[in-house]
Amino acid sequence: MTSTEPSVFTRIIRREIPADVVYEDDSVIAFNDIAPQAPVHVVIVPKTEAYRDVVELAAADSALLAHVVEVAKQIADQRTGGEFRLIFNNGEAAGQTVFHVHAHVLGGGLAEGTLG
Ligand code: 5GP
Repeated sequence: MTSTEPSVFTRIIRREIPADVVYEDDSVIAFNDIAPQAPVHVVIVPKTEAYRDVVELAAADSALLAHVVEVAKQIADQRTGGEFRLIFNNGEAAGQTVFHVHAHVLGGGLAEGTLG
């Protein structure tokens, strides 16, 4: 993170703002997106503030990235029958609005088109 301000996701992790949490462990938290783009739309956020996007995360901590994918699969198994889209927006022009790395898990009767 380049900003010194905590991201909205850090504030959710700290319970400073509410969220509908569906999964949490020592390294990640997952919650329903406030503006869902599909019947199931969960955001998975690594708790560390060190990485702004998946490129930084993959370069620095591939095990944590793999864990995000495992958690996505667990959520999909419980909520979408196991099939899902996994989206990382990288950069403002790509639709990223929160610069704290996160994955979107989408499933359950997906609409046509792209996220964002
Ligand atoms: P991005 O566009 O950065 O890839 O995704 C950020 C996502 O975070 C968006 O889908 C947006 O709806 C979601 N989001 C932003 N603020 C909040 C919030 O306060 N609570 C929840 N649950 N989701 C949020």
